[in-house]
Amino acid sequence: MVPTASTSWEPVNTNSLSTRKKFRPRIDSKACKGCLICVYVCETKGGKVLKATEEATSMGGLLPTLDGDCIGCRWCERYCPDFAISVEEVEEC
Ligand code: SF4
Ligand code: SF4
Repeated sequence: MVPTASTSWEPVNTNSLSTRKKFRPRIDSKACKGCLICVYVCETKGGKVLKATEEATSMGGLLPTLDGDCIGCRWCERYCPDFAISVEEVEEC
């Protein structure tokens, strides 16, 4: 559209520009056996933000936890053999 003298322009909604997506892996501590495959794939293919904790799972492994900003690549979700980790999208301003 070619602007004319009568064209009215709406101001840009800056609220939508300042909103960015964030991601957060959710770990089901009951389903997780603590194999740390997710930590390995996050380190090698993802955002390097999943780390092992000192907390033992019921299967004798170690629970993973988020330590940094998840980039939402979902490699951890794809590789977990027990479907114990899922990545959620979180809207933040
Ligand atoms: S890959 Fe799955 S089962 Fe293994 S530590 Fe990660 S969340 Fe737990
Ligand atoms: S989605 Fe990617 S960056 Fe986020 S925890 Fe999983 S592997 Fe790491």
